Amino acid sequence: MSLKTRILLLAAALMLLSSVASLLAYRELSQSIIERWGTQVAEIQVRYDSARLLQSLEREVGLARQMSESTTLINWAQHPDDRILRAGAIREMESFRSNFRDNSYFVALRKNGHYYYNNGANQFAGNQFRYVLDPQNPDDAWFFQLISEGRDFHLNVNPDKELGVTKLWIDVLMRDPQGEIVGMVGTGLNLDGFLQDIVDINQPGITTMFVDVKGAIQLHRDRSYIDFASIIKPEGQKNTLDLLLEKPADKREMMNLLESLRQGPGTAGEVASSFVTVNGRRHLAGAAFLPTIGWFEVTLLDLNTLLPNRYLWPLIAVFLVALVVTLLVFQLAIRRRIIQPLSGLESAVKAVAEGNFAYPALRKPDNEIGRLAGHFETMAKRLEESTHNLETQVYYRTEELHRLARVDALTGLRNRRGLDEILAAEMERSRRQQTGFGLIWLDIDLFKSINDRQGHQAGDDILCRVALWLKASVRPYDHPGRWGGDEFVVVLSPCNAETMAQIAHRVRASIEQDSRLTDTPVTVSVGAYFSHPGDTLDDILHRADQALYLAKDKGRNRVCVADHYNKESSPA
Ligand code: GH3
Ligand code: MG
Repeated sequence: MSLKTRILLLAAALMLLSSVASLLAYRELSQSIIERWGTQVAEIQVRYDSARLLQSLEREVGLARQMSESTTLINWAQHPDDRILRAGAIREMESFRSNFRDNSYFVALRKNGHYYYNNGANQFAGNQFRYVLDPQNPDDAWFFQLISEGRDFHLNVNPDKELGVTKLWIDVLMRDPQGEIVGMVGTGLNLDGFLQDIVDINQPGITTMFVDVKGAIQLHRDRSYIDFASIIKPEGQKNTLDLLLEKPADKREMMNLLESLRQGPGTAGEVASSFVTVNGRRHLAGAAFLPTIGWFEVTLLDLNTLLPNRYLWPLIAVFLVALVVTLLVFQLAIRRRIIQPLSGLESAVKAVAEGNFAYPALRKPDNEIGRLAGHFETMAKRLEESTHNLETQVYYRTEELHRLARVDALTGLRNRRGLDEILAAEMERSRRQQTGFGLIWLDIDLFKSINDRQGHQAGDDILCRVALWLKASVRPYDHPGRWGGDEFVVVLSPCNAETMAQIAHRVRASIEQDSRLTDTPVTVSVGAYFSHPGDTLDDILHRADQALYLAKDKGRNRVCVADHYNKESSPA
């Protein structure tokens, strides 16, 4: 995997990690903000709803209490069959009727179970006695239940089958001066209007309800949730708040919360809240206890409706765009400042390793890689210079060696190898141009005896001198060389047979003459042959050698030229 891929993968992994961490932190933070916000909203909503309920009930409850304290009614309740007292009581009840908001009232007497009622339409004028409450009749059980519980005040949502109405009933016990319960008075409020005013608020995501101390739902905008006639229902059959909740933990939590509110310091307006799941959605439940009516106000806030997730989408979009932009910028920066300079440097190193110093110019960012590239350039330049120097030196030394390999160390003339190369080149040229070249072969006469008489060193000196005289007596473009021992060869090119013979004689004569001026005069015998196209090198050497042999044979110090046609050498 390339460095670029690795760095990008690492960066992406790190960013993803930090993104997940940020997202978790963000969720945690937003959750806590939503919780605090929701709690405050729930508190405000609970207080607002409670205030509205109390406001609409307070006057009615006050009037009902006032009615329950009416001595006229209490006296009558103690003597229900007294006609005069009853007439006075009915007048009293009717005056209260005009004050109640619903213009209705009821009075139930404990002694004879008589139930009196009149409504806003004054439907039962003069006929206020409606029926007799029967302890055996389940529809009348509310009366006997409330009396047995001895609760002075009670709110109850109950259909009155006898009257054909469903109302929110305000029930207040009537006691004689001794505290004995003598009856019950109250009024009913039209449930529909009440529900509309108090709990049917048109706010999406907010559900308001009122529950009694047992958790039974008393007011809810959906009537099917209302626990009608809850006072007479046994536990377990009531429509209680916990039935709305799905999780057992939520039910326990909610019931504990209501209980702690009820038993709490009783601070008016104290609100508690808790998260619960309703219909599979997360809600924040706020609750307050209303001691004056003995109910709880419960508000459920559907957080998803109030603060939908789509509100978070722009944030998530901004987050994702920021992530992508960061990755792109990071990738660009890494590419420009690390990857490209590094790959350029890598190519340059590879080129230099292969001996190529003409690599493209390196990018040098202002960082470690840039400095490394700078050092590399300096190093490569020095390496190029020293390589160039070495190559030049090697070239010259090789040339020198090459030259030395072809030069005779003693005389400075070409050696056998040098002569072989010249001969090969001449053979090639002769074949190409269909011309010949001259070959002169010299051998010092009786050289062995000089060696024997004067020593080997003196012999060497004579060899050197003969070489000098030989070189001086041929043309500048001829190729004199030492064949070995006391034998010398001269390749003459360009040349013809006549010129060759002249040069052979000149060489012999000049050596003889020049050597006479020294302590040790020497002579040479010379064999010569002018080659023809088609001659092999062996033929040529052989003919020249034969001519030399003939010169020796004829008495030395002479020139013999081999003839191409009769293959005989003739002394000249
Ligand atoms: P000839 O006239 O028949 O040529 O008689 P020669 O004595 O010259 O006989 P030959 O050419 O056969 O002898 C060559 C001698 O040259 C033999 C050898 O001792 C001597 N010699 C060969 N190479 C060297 C050398 O490098 N230095 C010296 N000083 N003597 C050499
Ligand atoms: Mg000799």
